Amino acid sequence: MLEKEVLIIGGGIAGITVALELSQFEIPVLLIEKNPSIGGLASTFCCKASESCNKCFACVVDKRIVEIHQKRNIQCLTRTEISGIRKNGKKFEVTLKQGRERIDLQVPAIVMAVGIDPYDATQKGEYGYGRYLDVITAKDLDEMLRYQGKLVRPSNGEFPTRLAFFQCVGSRDESIGNLYCSQVCCAYALRLIRAIRYQYPKVKVCFFYMDIQPAGPSFESFLKSCREDQGIRFIRSLPSKIYYSGASHLLKVRVPDPQTGEVMEEPFELIVLSVGMVLSQGARSLVQWLGLHYTEDGFIEASSSQEGVFVAGACSGPKDIDRTIIHAKGTALEVYQFLKGRD
Ligand SMILES: Cc1cc2nc3c(=O)[nH]c(=O)nc-3n(C[C@H](O)[C@H](O)[C@H](O)COP(=O)(O)OP(=O)(O)OC[C@H]3O[C@@H](n4cnc5c(N)ncnc54)[C@H](O)[C@@H]3O)c2cc1C
Ligand code: SF4
Ligand code: SF4
Repeated sequence: MLEKEVLIIGGGIAGITVALELSQFEIPVLLIEKNPSIGGLASTFCCKASESCNKCFACVVDKRIVEIHQKRNIQCLTRTEISGIRKNGKKFEVTLKQGRERIDLQVPAIVMAVGIDPYDATQKGEYGYGRYLDVITAKDLDEMLRYQGKLVRPSNGEFPTRLAFFQCVGSRDESIGNLYCSQVCCAYALRLIRAIRYQYPKVKVCFFYMDIQPAGPSFESFLKSCREDQGIRFIRSLPSKIYYSGASHLLKVRVPDPQTGEVMEEPFELIVLSVGMVLSQGARSLVQWLGLHYTEDGFIEASSSQEGVFVAGACSGPKDIDRTIIHAKGTALEVYQFLKGRD
């Protein structure tokens, strides 16, 4: 039977931050991650610098992954999931599954840092994601830039010069029941656009949006620089439909004109859907086993009524990397105080 003081479920930036904070107090921690490597969603993001750093925080994640492997009181198990949890007195008895192997563990404290999934854009059928190759999500674009190192149209590998970004895909949308703002997509989309405009000045971008969600103290001046960029058009209206024109091999976008309300049509070579976030699939059974509750928006209630169970990061509600780190630091402090109270 493995004995630790804290089990952290989820090796994203939230879980990593909790582990690093607790390691400063010499608390033995086990961090488990279901994927082959730690880092979570944010470890797939590209650098969004243009003339200078645009503060997307992606590189912070890479640095913290390196740090975690240097700490001797943090044990990290990847490709590991939970197959059962039972409370026995003041401790949790946890069964872990690593491939075919089973590991039994006892801990007094558990941190849920199971994170988020990007909204599944196929649910917005009118935008044709999964049907038209040149309709991609911002996450696909991020990965294209990080792993392929260039901007291409997936349908033919050619360089696109006319791009459109659709905001609020999967958020603030009554038709799908997600009324909350995902907080991060305005900033990440604009940072992606600035990085693309810097690297490929020939690219012209149309930014279709409802409102722009602020993101930190330097965001206002960054937004101003985006608005001054002649290659970015801001259109305060959300498209109703995309259809493919076989003759021109372009995607046509139907969108109400914000001034007249009349439907206009415009062709693009590549369309990027700025998807929001939802609670990760991996969270559901754990929420049930641990007797936790959901918020109105379907995330995990952070003030857990279960003694010894704590919640960290974006699984408690939409957050960017910066706010996830701040939240996870707060959670680590709560865990420390809980463990100290038991001594
Ligand atoms: C499309 C998109 C783009 C974004 N771009 C930016 C950006 O540019 N800048 C920015 O600051 N923020 C951005 N964000 C927000 C950012 O992704 C989050 O702030 C960050 O990922 C939250 O970290 P986390 O650790 O809470 O969750 P996650 O990154 O989701 O990590 C959770 C981890 O837990 C693991 N896990 C889940 N369930 C289990 C289980 N049962 N057992 C074991 N492991 C499990 C998952 O595999 C994952 O590794 C973006 C979000 C989206 C959706
Ligand atoms: S733009 Fe993002 S990844 Fe690039 S240096 Fe700045 S914070 Fe780091
Ligand atoms: S952050 Fe921006 S794009 Fe995302 S849901 Fe909020 S307003 Fe919409």
